[in-house]
Amino acid sequence: MFCKIVSGEIPSRKVHEDERIVAFEDIAPKAPTHVLIVPRKHISKLDEASAEDASVLGDVALRAAAIAREHGLEDYRVVVNNGAGAGQSVFHLHFHLLGGRNFSWPPG
Ligand code: 5GP
Repeated sequence: MFCKIVSGEIPSRKVHEDERIVAFEDIAPKAPTHVLIVPRKHISKLDEASAEDASVLGDVALRAAAIAREHGLEDYRVVVNNGAGAGQSVFHLHFHLLGGRNFSWPPG
């Protein structure tokens, strides 16, 4: 489904777009800032990523930090849910950037 967002077929509120990454606001935000950062390449989950994806995964992590800075966030959380048991519901790899409130640890 995120492939359709990446291609523009499904509309989204994009906050960043380049040749390898798309970042957009989560449709059901769990924090005041909740952005999903997605590699355009279809990788179903982190466990399916391989060494050739290391560069784009680095870009995704650095983009999360850049978007956090743009939102004025110093403290924030970056989350990847891998597999349904960990809370993954969309099987196109994405990093969650969450900020604007306090978070507890350990996560639920
Ligand atoms: P997951 O549960 O797979 O880690 O995260 C999927 C996220 O995608 C959820 O936070 C959910 O709210 C968000 N989401 C699901 N469908 C859409 C959609 O069509 N548009 C946007 N912007 N976010 C979506």
